[in-house]
Amino acid sequence: NRRFVLQQRPHGSPDANTFRLEEQPVPAPQEGQVLLRTLFLSLDPYMRGRISDAPSYAAPVEIGGTMVGGTVSRVETSRNPDFPVGQLVLGYSGWQDYALSDGAGLNKLDGDVAQSSRALGVLGMPGFTAYMGLLDIGQPKAGETVVVAAASGAVGSLVGQIAKIKGARAVGIAGGAEKCRYVVEELGFDACIDHRAPDFAQQLADACPDGIDVYFENVGGAVFDAVLPLLNTRARIPVCGMIADYNATALPAGPDRLGLLARTILTKRIRMQGFIIFDDYGHRYGEFFQQMSEWLQQGRIKFREDIVDGLENAPQAFNGLLEGKNFGKLVIRVAQD
Ligand code: NDP
Repeated sequence: NRRFVLQQRPHGSPDANTFRLEEQPVPAPQEGQVLLRTLFLSLDPYMRGRISDAPSYAAPVEIGGTMVGGTVSRVETSRNPDFPVGQLVLGYSGWQDYALSDGAGLNKLDGDVAQSSRALGVLGMPGFTAYMGLLDIGQPKAGETVVVAAASGAVGSLVGQIAKIKGARAVGIAGGAEKCRYVVEELGFDACIDHRAPDFAQQLADACPDGIDVYFENVGGAVFDAVLPLLNTRARIPVCGMIADYNATALPAGPDRLGLLARTILTKRIRMQGFIIFDDYGHRYGEFFQQMSEWLQQGRIKFREDIVDGLENAPQAFNGLLEGKNFGKLVIRVAQD
């Protein structure tokens, strides 16, 4: 059983000393337990928070502890009648080949292996995040302008498509021409701006001639600076993530923009609200799952997965996620069928 443990908390970007690959015998299940074989491991930005000991909404991974993560697994050996051998499950085995479970927190998955990775993306945590953040906090109305960054990614790609279903105008922000082309031509956003373009702020203003009514915040940093002057009166900002800052080791260079932000919130009566998806909305997962499944069946939602083969490649792929190297929902294929 190979597993990645946290060896050292990184200062800035994770590096070669952050994770260590260990090998141990495959464990044997006790009465009531199952042995799970990991098929797919989800890599997500929140993992950067778990390897830091800065105060957060969840406890960090201990030094020497197995790196956490959502997984799709198959029951390999069963001593629990609720989970027969061969059953596919969504769980939280972390960055390892095998894990033991007593069944708590496991969700059975129907369907075949080829489609099971959707449970980590469009039908799972990132999809749920896009759905609740946009609809419950953002509350887009027909004709309004919704802006989202990381627009080709797991969450952002769905935010824009749901905004379109609700009759709003969707403007994406993404890194590079290829991602922007995909966001407009494949996902159907009205426009997409490259945040690395030298005249990014001007291009964003041109793409939002009626201002911004909902800004779904995924990244922070320079993108938020460009969004701030475009916000309309009574704009809503679901604060979902600040990925531009996850590897930061110090506050950004001045000038201090806190006063400008507070004044904008006040004079434009803006509602800005953070949320942690399962803590705040866990009770509404069923509603999301039903609606998203229906949209998928109707062909109204498209999604893209960036599947990387091999558990050994997880650290490198994870760093890529924090630098925009992934194109779609990042998933590690740990084992072939
Ligand atoms: P993505 O699949 O979108 O991948 C991350 C993307 O972020 C990269 O591909 C890159 O896209 C973009 N990015 C990275 N660095 C920067 C930067 N400096 N400036 C601008 N963009 C950058 O990830 P997810 O969809 O899984 O996550 C998106 C956000 O949602 C994250 O902030 C995450 O933490 C948050 N989140 C929050 C949850 C909650 O409960 N609050 C739950 C799930 C996710 P590009 O190349 O286009 O720049």
